[in-house]
Amino acid sequence: MSIDSSDTESPVIIVGAGIAGLTCAVYLKQAGIHALVLEASDGVGGRIRTDQVDGFQLDRGFQILLTAYPEAQRLLNYSALNLQSFRSGALIHDQNQWLTLVNPLQEPTAVFQTLASSVGTIGDKLRIAELMRRTQGSSTDELFQQKPSTTRSFLREFGFSDQIIERFFRPFFGGVFLEDALSTSSNFFEFCFHMFFKGEAAVPANGMGAIPAQLAERLLPGQIWLNRPVEQVNGNTVRLVDGKTLTAKAIVLAVDGAQAAALYSGSDRENGKPFQPAFNQTTCTYFSAPKSPSPVNAKKLLMLNTQAHSVVHHLAVMSDVAPTYAPEGHSLISVSTQNLPNLAPIDHTTLASQIQQELSGWFGDEVQHWKHVRTYTIPDALPAYNPEQAGENVLRQPLQLIEHLYQCGDHTAYPSINAAMQTGREVAEMITHRL
Ligand SMILES: Cc1cc2nc3c(=O)[nH]c(=O)nc-3n(C[C@H](O)[C@H](O)[C@H](O)COP(=O)(O)OP(=O)(O)OC[C@H]3O[C@@H](n4cnc5c(N)ncnc54)[C@H](O)[C@@H]3O)c2cc1C
Repeated sequence: MSIDSSDTESPVIIVGAGIAGLTCAVYLKQAGIHALVLEASDGVGGRIRTDQVDGFQLDRGFQILLTAYPEAQRLLNYSALNLQSFRSGALIHDQNQWLTLVNPLQEPTAVFQTLASSVGTIGDKLRIAELMRRTQGSSTDELFQQKPSTTRSFLREFGFSDQIIERFFRPFFGGVFLEDALSTSSNFFEFCFHMFFKGEAAVPANGMGAIPAQLAERLLPGQIWLNRPVEQVNGNTVRLVDGKTLTAKAIVLAVDGAQAAALYSGSDRENGKPFQPAFNQTTCTYFSAPKSPSPVNAKKLLMLNTQAHSVVHHLAVMSDVAPTYAPEGHSLISVSTQNLPNLAPIDHTTLASQIQQELSGWFGDEVQHWKHVRTYTIPDALPAYNPEQAGENVLRQPLQLIEHLYQCGDHTAYPSINAAMQTGREVAEMITHRL
């Protein structure tokens, strides 16, 4: 990775080395424009980072790349990422029984298993096929231009039964949105549904952090300054916390909405101010186990829990999907918890033992041999995206705030890697055009 902290003159300064800021810098470089990237933390990736702990690869929160994301296909080198895919579908734990739902497009032979399962009614399964046809016939822009409702209302209006909503849609998409009420906008739901069915859910062999690392490697030595938090942006000037000031012809705020609003507060506002959505939170607890708990015929499927208000929302055996996630002879299990009433302070040891106790009911006594590796609580995981803000005129936030000042990131569009990349690219194109 090409990172140091030597001084440089740049026409563009990008604040934030998350996916949006890195994408913007890469496209600017392709257009022959040098951008200096200032990052507050000690590494690139923002909300996508992977820690190496005792031979395990721990993503900071359970996270996947949907290979059908158009922006990811456009920019990333998938084969260099050595993507490892989940099976498309889910294994659902419902009142002491297991139900299986698989994607008939990817596993036609399993279609009868899915049809016979009691995840939903036969009508529900036909409606899934109808929803697949409907979303396939629309472009990403068209999906986002529809008048949204909440995902829950959309599913009801589409005719889905409460049975499939509670057994599949709530646990599965509640895990995608990081909220179980399914109050997230239906156009984001349709986009995600389409992406899940069109491509695969995957992780790079070296962890999700390999995605931002691949982008950072395309930049020049010295182009990213780490541990350099920005304090304020005023006019064409950026002031760092360490007192240094830098000027540029264009400045890009590639930080979250709250940070963007704080940095921009000293500036003279013209087009509006950065939008600050609330965040949905999540907690991810990792365990090492002597063997994978997945049933043999369900390896690589995400496991969902239909029981709301449980410490286990969903579970993935990461080392089944990507053996590089765990050292030889160990399995790595990721358990996501949502709706913890109060995140701070949280006692990770107690949470881990509650999870183990609950999962003993799923997998038996072997769970007592699991070892707690680490827990990540992420209060600022995903910007909430509800129908009111996704409605007319606020579908997308303006990417140009004032003449020389731009913003990008998932809070300016919708909460996903694809949106962070899309807005990063669009800002790069606007700057290229202007400079
Ligand atoms: C647990 C979790 C699970 C997720 N699951 C998925 C998933 O499965 N699929 C999917 O598509 N998306 C998922 N996402 C969302 C996805 O990770 C984000 O949409 C994306 O990473 C946002 O990128 P960004 O560049 O907009 O913002 P960020 O990643 O937040 O980057 C902002 C950067 O700005 C830096 N910064 C902030 N303030 C300053 C400052 N003052 N000075 C300098 N630098 C600053 C930050 O340190 C950070 O590096 C998930 C996110 C989380 C946390």
